[in-house]
Amino acid sequence: MTTENIKDRYELAIIGCGPAGMAAALNAKIRNKDFILLGTEYGGSKLAKAPQVENYLGFPKISGLELRRHFQEHLQSMDIQAVKQKVNAVYPGSRFTLALPEQVIEADAVILATGVSAQKVFPGEAELLGRGVGYCATCDGPLYRNKSVAILAYAAEGEHDANYLAELCTKVYYIPFYKEVGVLDPRLEIRRAAVKSIMGQNKVEGLELAGETLTVDGVFVVRESLPAEQLVSGLALEQQAIKTGPDFSTNIRGLFAAGDCTGSPYQLLKAVGEGATAALTAIRYLDELKQQK
Ligand SMILES: Cc1cc2nc3c(=O)[nH]c(=O)nc-3n(C[C@H](O)[C@H](O)[C@H](O)COP(=O)(O)OP(=O)(O)OC[C@H]3O[C@@H](n4cnc5c(N)ncnc54)[C@H](O)[C@@H]3O)c2cc1C
Repeated sequence: MTTENIKDRYELAIIGCGPAGMAAALNAKIRNKDFILLGTEYGGSKLAKAPQVENYLGFPKISGLELRRHFQEHLQSMDIQAVKQKVNAVYPGSRFTLALPEQVIEADAVILATGVSAQKVFPGEAELLGRGVGYCATCDGPLYRNKSVAILAYAAEGEHDANYLAELCTKVYYIPFYKEVGVLDPRLEIRRAAVKSIMGQNKVEGLELAGETLTVDGVFVVRESLPAEQLVSGLALEQQAIKTGPDFSTNIRGLFAAGDCTGSPYQLLKAVGEGATAALTAIRYLDELKQQK
């Protein structure tokens, strides 16, 4: 599905198209729900990295890449398409509002299947979140007009944000943590250095790199995924994972979670089983909502 085909509203939004999100989508499709499957990498990047999977029922000794291909083919055969979009924020309300990079959509129910990020949180990041630290340049960029910002990018998606910010800000530093950097606005300054901390008392004042300190008013962090509590504010956690009931509901009505993001063991069968169960719970919730109307 291309971004032009995205509607303004769905019954169900599934965030993350790894094994958990794919399993959820399968059940939503079978139950004829109006849903959207959103994710930064179709099939999930983790599965592709598994050299050999030996514990997935029905597929003895299969590579992660090949298993992912089977999953994708299964979805394609049912005409399920994933939309390659990162969700920057989910706002609960009478309906959920989802902030995509260049668009806002609504959904009556949401399943989080966002996995866990292996990338570390920078010192100062959590403390200064919302006070100069942000994750979405499109949403927050205008606040930094004529100011200085830095972008810490784990993914090439950061280039898009950086080029946009170069138009607004007096100074933009781009700090990539990946190898092949694409075409960047000449006004950007690239630094390849380890980040020691994001500095500031009540708001961002600087960025400490190995070897130099940059004076900046804002820092955007671009990762493939966002920590769940930063994606949805007010989401209850337990031991750093999303806290769910046995039906994979969270503390927020209409919001469900499945897969690695609900905690260990980090295993495919668990992710797939939870994705399927969360979808069935979400479907029951949607049916009850309809009856109340
Ligand atoms: C090297 C390696 C080997 C492994 N081997 C095995 C094995 O042999 N057996 C086994 O059972 N398990 C194995 N695993 C674990 C298994 O891969 C995971 O348990 C499984 O992938 C979890 O699925 P998931 O859907 O919950 O999360 P993920 O696969 O992590 O998928 C989550 C997806 O959501 C996307 N996403 C996150 N945030 C957002 C957002 N804000 N907007 C849009 N998309 C977002 C992510 O980019 C990702 O694509 C292995 C993992 C690794 C890394």
